[in-house]
Amino acid sequence: MRPFAGVDIGGTMTKVGVLGENFESASFCTPHDKDRLILEICKEILKLSHGKTLEGVGVGCPGAVDPNGKVDFMPNLDFEDFDIGALLKRELQTNVAVTNDANAAALAECKRNDFSDAVMLTLGTGVGSGIIIGGKIYEGANGKAAELGHMIIEADGRRCGCGMKGCLEAYASASALIAQTKRAMEADRSSFMWELCPDINAVDGKVAFEAEKLGDRAAKEVVEEYIKYLGTGIINICNIFRPEAVIIGGGVSNQGEYLLGRLRNFCLAREYGYKNAPHPQIIKARLGSLAGLYGAIELIKYKSEERNERP
Ligand SMILES: [Zn+2]
Repeated sequence: MRPFAGVDIGGTMTKVGVLGENFESASFCTPHDKDRLILEICKEILKLSHGKTLEGVGVGCPGAVDPNGKVDFMPNLDFEDFDIGALLKRELQTNVAVTNDANAAALAECKRNDFSDAVMLTLGTGVGSGIIIGGKIYEGANGKAAELGHMIIEADGRRCGCGMKGCLEAYASASALIAQTKRAMEADRSSFMWELCPDINAVDGKVAFEAEKLGDRAAKEVVEEYIKYLGTGIINICNIFRPEAVIIGGGVSNQGEYLLGRLRNFCLAREYGYKNAPHPQIIKARLGSLAGLYGAIELIKYKSEERNERP
């Protein structure tokens, strides 16, 4: 079998891996120049593939990607209309498939857990998401599906970075949790959150959770509200997709069972149509920063299978 290559382009680092008899990987600082980025990717792939002909290359990158592998806009790098799929195909003379990095991560976590239908939410600066149906990324029209962070969970609610009001991201991202923690601290000078974090500018996604564990009332309100909104988003996802699992990634997921157990209880009390069916699992992502690279390889693997099956 010919080896598959994967690429995960990040705002800071780019990872490249080749899966043949063994798996080998490398990483480099992402150049803020399209031509140099293509050059570096090709150089690493050629090095890691040891002269073997590749079956194909999968790419995960930030931004909105169309089905031909063209990226409209890559945030952090300010690349516009970047035809990365065609450029890599031309340089490497092999098949190339490109997807959004959140889709790639969802695919990798789904395969890792042996699910065929799952949804992943990454709770970070925003809420990233990927939908896997039948073991494949759900791409939607023009490849732009799976913006679950912008599902509206509160009509006319809090302002979201996208310009709309009441999006899941405005309540369930790590940034939203931090903003609510700060608000609660300012409203209650006696809160134990001040002891844990005397500098309000240093508040992170852990402060409210840690203070709640110590019995702080203001922190408990922050965490309960966070769980209510994140849980509402998860119930909507379960009612629409009926996945085997909802996989939670990002820094907030490090709260582990303390968060996941309560999310499960919240959803169990509100879910619809599971009387005689297994409940969707709510679990923590396991692959961390390697999910994007593994997912890029899984993508090109199934795209190659599809191509080989064609008459
Ligand atoms: Zn939004």
